[in-house]
Amino acid sequence: QDTTVAFVGLGHMGGPMAANLVKAGYKVLGFDLAPAALEQAGKDGLTVVSSSDEGASQADVVITMLPSGKHVIDLYNGGLLASAKPGTLFIDSSTIDVADAKTAADAAVAAGHRPVDAPVSGGVSGAAAGTLAFMVGGPAENFEAAKPLLDVMGAKVVHCGDAGVGQAAKICNNMVLGISMIAISEAFVLGEKLGLSNQAFFDVASNASGQCWSLTTYCPVPGPVPTSPANNDYQPGFATALMNKDLGLAANALQANGVDGQLGLHAAEIYTRFMEENGGKDFSAIVTDIRDRSNE
Ligand code: NAD
Repeated sequence: QDTTVAFVGLGHMGGPMAANLVKAGYKVLGFDLAPAALEQAGKDGLTVVSSSDEGASQADVVITMLPSGKHVIDLYNGGLLASAKPGTLFIDSSTIDVADAKTAADAAVAAGHRPVDAPVSGGVSGAAAGTLAFMVGGPAENFEAAKPLLDVMGAKVVHCGDAGVGQAAKICNNMVLGISMIAISEAFVLGEKLGLSNQAFFDVASNASGQCWSLTTYCPVPGPVPTSPANNDYQPGFATALMNKDLGLAANALQANGVDGQLGLHAAEIYTRFMEENGGKDFSAIVTDIRDRSNE
């Protein structure tokens, strides 16, 4: 590959994503604020650079995988956009506010670059296996330019629309996930009160109209789906802190756009409360909270 990629943010997700680009033959200039991430990056075959700006100045493509919209905007405006060569492709794969994604894209365009928002689902295991799903927002030509790289890191790449619309797809999907996990958990606890075993409810609902991913792949009670985190003391998986973040983004977007999204807003409240003591547990552990509160 003669494309050089600067990859900024080599955490749980960015680290393995960047490693897959190296395996595919790209030259990857890596930067992170955390020394441990840089050490791992070196082992994975990245070229470690001393700042994100240094990486951007030598790259054709800049990929960011950062905690929040503020990180992305601060980095873009703090020198990353100014350091990059004109026309650089900027791919932001962080999960951030739709409004922040548009702000970041506008700043990149104003600086003469080609941005896309390209958040992912699939978690750390998907990042390591190169099977992430990418939801992409931005002009079609930028999408086409980004697609070969996204195909290396992911198994499914969908162009969702203009700038910010990739983030819109991500938060809409995860809002459904948060709501459906609460719904399935309430059903299990209600069933327990009514003398309906978890397994019997699973056997019925998994073949009926209550069927959904939160039940059949990620079942929040131990037993019916042996691979779900419930069978492993609710080790994540997908941590409550991350679900809480995504529901917060969904709640912001519901309110900013005047949408009567009562379940989305309520799911955000439920996970914010659960998060106080359980942020490190898998988000499916919400069933234990519903059960405890039902037995008080
Ligand atoms: P993480 O905290 O493990 O990684 C973020 C990395 O960014 C850290 O290593 C941090 O040191 C680095 N960083 C922060 N500011 C920086 C800066 N200015 N310059 C360079 N590096 C900087 O987080 P993660 O789990 O890898 O998640 C990254 C993004 O992906 C988040 O937006 C998250 O919501 C999203 N996401 C995560 C998952 C998941 O399962 N972990 C799944 C889908 C999406």
